[in-house]
Amino acid sequence: MSFVVKCMDCGHTFAFSPTTVQCPNCESPWRNVEYDYDVLAQTLPQELPKRPFDLWRYRELLPVRNPSPNISLGEGGTPLIQAYNLGMMLGVPNIFIKDERQGPTASFKDRQAAITIAALKEAGITEMVAASTGNVAISYSAYAARAGIKLWAFVTSLVPAVKMREIALYGSQVIKVTGSYDQAKQVAAEFSRQRGIYIDMGAKTITSVEAMKTLAYEVSEQLTSILGSVNDGGRTYWRTPDWYIQSISGGMGPLGVDKGFHELRMMGMVKGHPALAAVQAEGCAPMVHAWREGKDTATPVTNPRTHIETLATGDPGRTYTLLYRQVKESGGTFESVTDEEAYRAMHVLAKMEGISAEPAAAVAFAGLFKLIRNGKIKPTDTVVINCTGHTMPAEPMILGDSWARNVVLPSKAAVDDTPQEGLLAALSRVADNRFPRIAIVDDTADARRLIRRILQSQGDFTIFEASDGYEAIALIQKELPDLIILDLMMPGMDGFSVIEALKSNDETSGIPVIVSTAKELTADEKKRLQGRIQALMQKGDFLNDEFLDEVRSLLN
Ligand SMILES: *Cc1c(COP(=O)(O)O)cnc(C)c1O
Ligand SMILES: [Zn+2]
Repeated sequence: MSFVVKCMDCGHTFAFSPTTVQCPNCESPWRNVEYDYDVLAQTLPQELPKRPFDLWRYRELLPVRNPSPNISLGEGGTPLIQAYNLGMMLGVPNIFIKDERQGPTASFKDRQAAITIAALKEAGITEMVAASTGNVAISYSAYAARAGIKLWAFVTSLVPAVKMREIALYGSQVIKVTGSYDQAKQVAAEFSRQRGIYIDMGAKTITSVEAMKTLAYEVSEQLTSILGSVNDGGRTYWRTPDWYIQSISGGMGPLGVDKGFHELRMMGMVKGHPALAAVQAEGCAPMVHAWREGKDTATPVTNPRTHIETLATGDPGRTYTLLYRQVKESGGTFESVTDEEAYRAMHVLAKMEGISAEPAAAVAFAGLFKLIRNGKIKPTDTVVINCTGHTMPAEPMILGDSWARNVVLPSKAAVDDTPQEGLLAALSRVADNRFPRIAIVDDTADARRLIRRILQSQGDFTIFEASDGYEAIALIQKELPDLIILDLMMPGMDGFSVIEALKSNDETSGIPVIVSTAKELTADEKKRLQGRIQALMQKGDFLNDEFLDEVRSLLN
């Protein structure tokens, strides 16, 4: 394995050591690793097919000499999951979720911890300090436990208690700092200086940035096996997404991911490069503010106002300057979302895709929704989003009080009398029959299922479905629903004719109708609907609050 460390400031090159924290020539802490890409371009394509799909698959591109299987927890190699329902809902079919929840401690920090701890163990380190907004400390603690390294974890008091206990469970010493994350970092640095204990330096830690780039390698390989390779000039290449989206705090993730895609290009394995979208919580968005002003340095936010503590880095320092350049060159953007938008996205993601992400990751999904709505992300784009777990601390924020229904069984005596009746009576109170009744008419089963899912994610409805115009008329006359959601373009009897038929029958003429359509309507078509329907919705626009507001208002 051959690689050198190069100083970003004076260009001096030197050998790698995980405990060396600055350039020996100019003392800059900002360094970068370079590998022998020409050699790897020849050897790696032959090696990869023989290796398991995990993080160590790319070991020649990682700064660890002898990866120890005794430390590994099965890091990397997380699935890339197509967000089929979200894609339909948003009108962007190729949305893929890089499911980092499936890492050993459920966050993408496992990559960073696996490589950093492996390198530190190799260097003989037995004690270390790290400041964290939560997930880094959890992940470092797990790997430090295996490596026999004692970790002093400095976290802010905002980190949820369940996360702190997980850190402690792995045997780390938790030090709770009442203050901002930036202050916790200062306290940790002072502690490390006084005690002479090695301290992790975040984005300045070479192994950490190197770890993040494995996301780029994996995503490219996975997209290639899902969507096929790219052919150009008689050669084939791995596929790259059009967008990589991640919620950011310090910004280390995209910094490393961007490097990974560059390296793949230098080795001739890919042609493309994704635009980076870095999403911050609005209450702590120094990078977004600087980006909007076209500046490459950020003014620190000293008083973060977000409940999403994972993302509360107020002072990104030089990481922003590096990231600014990368985002700009990639054609990407910085975006911010409110806590409420994040919680809402978290709920949508769970209900639409069965994926429970943590609020910090939901920030990226809320950013995705925004970037699609404002047209930055196009319907034909392939999008990859980094997704991380740990929902427990946040569930109370989105579920409210009525998330469970109780079944209270009758007393034993009553049950002995009429055992079945007692149980049935109890269960009948769990799902009663008085919910608003909605008929969904659409010739595509997927579209019906999607609308059903969106409605169900927002409340309790009794839902009927019809797959063509004739069936719709029969169903509506029989069930007399409170609301009809009607597709216009259906073979046989189309939506226009269904409306005609409903309006000519006294029993059904008063039922409100929301029309959903995939295409822009002509002026003539719009005229045919005028005064006869309550709302016209564009398909792919269903996330829009308008749709649900419309449904609610029509049911009242
Ligand atoms: C660490 C973390 C982030 C922020 O990542 P950076 O790349 O360090 O800014 C976002 N989301 C989750 C879930 C995290 O754990
Ligand atoms: Zn230097």
